[in-house]
Amino acid sequence: MTEITLVQGDITRQSADAIVNAANSSLLGGGGVDGAIHRRGGPAILADCRRLRAGHYGKGLPTGRAVATTAGDLDARWVIHTVGPRHSRDEDRSELLASCYRASLRVADELGARTVAFPAVSAGIYGWPLDDAARIAVETVRATQTSVEEVRFVLFDERAYEAFAARTG
Ligand code: ADP
Repeated sequence: MTEITLVQGDITRQSADAIVNAANSSLLGGGGVDGAIHRRGGPAILADCRRLRAGHYGKGLPTGRAVATTAGDLDARWVIHTVGPRHSRDEDRSELLASCYRASLRVADELGARTVAFPAVSAGIYGWPLDDAARIAVETVRATQTSVEEVRFVLFDERAYEAFAARTG
């Protein structure tokens, strides 16, 4: 059984085997949690991302997929980058958001990570309503077969924490 835990705070300060980044498809950095991870993790993460772009992911990482790099100076072994969908009023993209969690856990299993910290993917710049982002995150992790022992949702502010607490309580 995978244990789900919640923490309010900055994901870059967490100790975990792997920390998930809500990246964008370029893998070359951005705002929000992505910017924070690259700032605090240092240039080794970006160097790995550039190698991925020069190799298998020439066109970028597709939405809903996940890939790992070093965690650089962070207190983790790996950063797992996943690309969340932008929220849309015209189209249901929930399956792509669920796919981010499934794909990240699959990568974690391949790496042998036992503890994985996730931010609220897509719930920032990509505009996903927090309650729905929390529902999809929690339901998907609960429904995914994985060897990961702890999935820790690291929520940046109280509003996000409460949204996840409502789904896990
Ligand atoms: P996206 O583009 O997928 O929406 P964002 O980084 O803009 O990604 O936001 C995703 C979530 O991460 C938001 O809830 C945002 O408040 C949160 N966030 C931003 N910085 C951090 C951080 N350092 N640690 C944890 N969560 C963060």
